[in-house]
Amino acid sequence: MSKELADLMFPNIDKTPEYYEELYPKRNLPEGAMVTRFAPSPTGFIHIGSLFGANLDRRLADQSNGVCYLRIEDTDGKREIDDGINVIINGLKVFGIEFDEGAVSESEEKGSYGPYIQSRRKDIYQCYAKSLVERGLAYPCFCTPEELDAIRERQEKLKIVPGYYGEFATCRKLSVSQMIERVKNGEPYVVRLKSPGSMSKKIRFKDAVRGVIEFPENVQDIVIIKSDGLPTYHFAHAIDDHLMRTTHVIRGEEWVSSIPLHVQLFEVLGFEMPEYIHTPTIMKDDEGSKRKISKRKDPEAAASYYKDNGIPKEAVIDYLMNILNSNFENWRKENPLAPLSEFKVDPHKISSSGALLDLVKLADVSKNTIATFSAQRVYEEGLAWAEEFDTELAGLMKRYPDYTKGILNIERTGTKVRKDISKWADLRDNLEYLYDEVFFTKEHEDEWQKITEASEIKEILKAYLEVFDENDDKDTWFAKMKDVSEKFGYAREVKDFKKNPDSYKGHVGDISTVIRVALTGRRNTPDLYEILKLMGRERAEKRFARLED
Ligand code: GLU
Repeated sequence: MSKELADLMFPNIDKTPEYYEELYPKRNLPEGAMVTRFAPSPTGFIHIGSLFGANLDRRLADQSNGVCYLRIEDTDGKREIDDGINVIINGLKVFGIEFDEGAVSESEEKGSYGPYIQSRRKDIYQCYAKSLVERGLAYPCFCTPEELDAIRERQEKLKIVPGYYGEFATCRKLSVSQMIERVKNGEPYVVRLKSPGSMSKKIRFKDAVRGVIEFPENVQDIVIIKSDGLPTYHFAHAIDDHLMRTTHVIRGEEWVSSIPLHVQLFEVLGFEMPEYIHTPTIMKDDEGSKRKISKRKDPEAAASYYKDNGIPKEAVIDYLMNILNSNFENWRKENPLAPLSEFKVDPHKISSSGALLDLVKLADVSKNTIATFSAQRVYEEGLAWAEEFDTELAGLMKRYPDYTKGILNIERTGTKVRKDISKWADLRDNLEYLYDEVFFTKEHEDEWQKITEASEIKEILKAYLEVFDENDDKDTWFAKMKDVSEKFGYAREVKDFKKNPDSYKGHVGDISTVIRVALTGRRNTPDLYEILKLMGRERAEKRFARLED
């Protein structure tokens, strides 16, 4: 009878589970190789938590010589947007994350365990559902939304666990011939699992992050196939991760509560369970209290935020690695230039309490990352960012490439590397004073007043120009600065000034500030000697002359 019901429910399904078992054989991979997957819904948005997970998927597969594939979970039509798949693929590529198998665009895919887009796997899910119906382990449920509401209301009144189970599972109690008759009558239905669970029994489950967790067994007759013929997340998870031969399911901790259900589904389907790594939710400190980072309220919830602000992908990934394994930070300190693949991620070291996203800390990591880049690379990556987000700056950088790289190259190597760029969006502030086009359109008056009187500033600048020679080495240059200091009653050495502050107007540092501000309009710049050399006499004269107005 059950066979008749199954045939009636799935008339087009002619394959058996054995067929798919053979079609997707166990993968031939070296011992210990991990098969991981990133399984997003094509919502057109990549959450920072998804990037965190995808990075972990990729790292674990890489470090074990395994496979990391992309599966698109689009069985919930409501959440889809056009072009959603490309948004995911391109959005992750920006961070250097690519997949060995899976969807490569809206229309193509690679790998032999596909289709990798769930909506194209309908027959596979239905085949397994059919087999469950045939074996009396699943059944059609004809309950209307009103009937389900009535069940919920009764449960609420009785203050008992809500859901479709036990005596509340009305359709479970129908006889097979009643079911056949109702299907034949064309009544709409969903397919439910006939849960073999018992409320008094417990299961033990081991998660790589959380260790062993004990749960009551699942008793809910959950929907496995919806009325549109597509599977629910739970059913698709079991079928796909089994047939695609996933060894490690890495997903957000919001799925932990569904574990009893998943354990039961794997058991009923006769599948071996993969290992699970449930990752912590990404949190944010909101005025002293931790809360879940919100797509709606927090721009940094979007992976695209980091690219748009010009934080290099290496910095974002390094930062996510810090959150992932706290020992990463020390490793990176000791190995600033090493490729990520040399760090071995340990899933057991992932924190199980929410991971805090700290943008200040990220900026710090990013400064260190950018400090390892050559001036050429800073120029190229900075320019690529500016082309998209600051076209005026991009224009200037392109008009003066060597001049720009010259500034970027100051204090870039050696023992004291300048760490003044945390993101490409900082470049404007770092560079704009260089370009006369910007410099002469800005007011710099405040800065003057803080140093000394205008009349003296003029004299100092004049005296300096008299001795300035672009070709001087640093010692000669500095000796000249000291001469100018002395001439105007400023100490040649800071220590002399400190000993006898009343005997001087100031010290050599004040004289260099006068020159720095006259030249750049700011008090803080890279090494003044290098800047003067790069900007050259002609530009210095032109800029100093501003005071004459
Ligand atoms: N599509 C699910 C989600 O976006 C994936 C969960 C999983 O990785 O299994 O939450």
